[in-house]
Amino acid sequence: MAEENQNLRTPIVCVMGHVDHGKTTLLDQIRGTAIVKGEAGAITQHIGATEVPIDVIVEKCGDKRLADKFIVPGLLFIDTPGHHAFTTLRSRGGSLADLAVVVVDINEGFKPQTIESLNILKRFKTPFIVVTNKIDRILGWKVHEGESFLSTYNKQTPEVQGLFEQKFYDVIGHLYEQGFSADRFDRVTDFQKTLGVIPISGLTGEGIPDVLMILLGLAQRFLESSLQYDINGPGVGTVLEVKDEKGLGTTIDVILYDGTLKKGDTVVIGRLGEPIVTKVRALLKPRELSEIRYESKFQPIQEVAAAAGVKISAPDIDDALAGAPIISATPETLDAVIEKVKSEIDDVQIQTDTDGVMIKADTIGSLEAMVHEFKKANIQIQKAEVGDITKRDIMEASTINDPKHSVILAFNIKVNPDAQEMLDETLDLRMFRNVRVFKNDVIYRILDEYQDFVKEQEEELE
Ligand code: GDP
Repeated sequence: MAEENQNLRTPIVCVMGHVDHGKTTLLDQIRGTAIVKGEAGAITQHIGATEVPIDVIVEKCGDKRLADKFIVPGLLFIDTPGHHAFTTLRSRGGSLADLAVVVVDINEGFKPQTIESLNILKRFKTPFIVVTNKIDRILGWKVHEGESFLSTYNKQTPEVQGLFEQKFYDVIGHLYEQGFSADRFDRVTDFQKTLGVIPISGLTGEGIPDVLMILLGLAQRFLESSLQYDINGPGVGTVLEVKDEKGLGTTIDVILYDGTLKKGDTVVIGRLGEPIVTKVRALLKPRELSEIRYESKFQPIQEVAAAAGVKISAPDIDDALAGAPIISATPETLDAVIEKVKSEIDDVQIQTDTDGVMIKADTIGSLEAMVHEFKKANIQIQKAEVGDITKRDIMEASTINDPKHSVILAFNIKVNPDAQEMLDETLDLRMFRNVRVFKNDVIYRILDEYQDFVKEQEEELE
């Protein structure tokens, strides 16, 4: 069994859901599990991601014999919550995240970002579970820290159980409305047909063992072929974040999902225009908490294999693009790799000659998601680009004659101050056509607002 395991990488898991429903708390709880339970370096907390090895999971679930049943090495949780991380982690046309967890506050129920998360997952066909969070807030709930859901549930009074059932089945009803057949995880016999829902408290850790166990089960059942990777192949990954790090300059956090990356490797990284070609100066992982007395939080390593999160220090990476590919190359493969990275970036930056709106987003992945949703709604797109709104964008939009296309639709980005100034001026001086900017961090809200605006315009014309 051990040998078969060798080339199966760790599944990558994203946590999504509405703001304040508890994504960060859940991730903290999982990270805590990893740090507390994994003694003597059994755990490495990566950058941008937390790896929870299989032995830690089975210990948490109270049965070490289970370890033999699983062939995946553990789970890699992306630390940035929300669909930002999910859509950032893309690979051509698909998502890199192998699994997802959608967090729903059991006391609040469905909210716009809950629905948006479900839509994104549906579209990418990513296996996922739903957790109904904050069960500890149900009136009269007695907390049993860190226990499995059934264990804590069975110790509640019938009244509290009744209250729970009511709220829980409200959520199941909402899922049904969204087209999902769903049930409590322990009653699901076929996770391909029925969506598993796990009641948890991210705060008290109740239900967390079930979350880890069900995720492993899903990985095992549905992902085995997609988790195979070539340990001797070139390192292939996605840039999660570009960050300034004290003493290191600009660094990039990368999720490596195939091959092996070594210190000194030549790498090609996506940016707008020609890709970056540079050399890995250092590969860095965070030091363990007990070692933080060292000057740097990071510890240099010689190489890293998929799937893992790693921080990379290298020259000339300032304009690396979040969501862009990073691939290592040899002198023989360099040209082909540059071409590959470039075409992946170009694929998403669409520009057509016909009339249409301008779309801007924070990452390539979210741009792709937006383009998809807008095209589905039959909205013409003239240009789709990553980045904040600039003066040039306003200029460009203002030259478009059709008011319904003299519009910038923006997801999760800012309007640069000089661009804002110009926007205000266009309103005052009527120098240009009024450019309308629709900005939000929920794609379908942008879509709704824009469609309302178009309707208004049409009514005015009548
Ligand atoms: P996010 O925006 O989805 O990342 O939500 P957070 O994790 O930041 O949580 C929002 C608020 O809900 C914080 O005040 C948390 O302490 C609280 N919270 C999150 N999970 C739980 C839970 O299971 N029980 C309780 N009582 N509070 C929670």
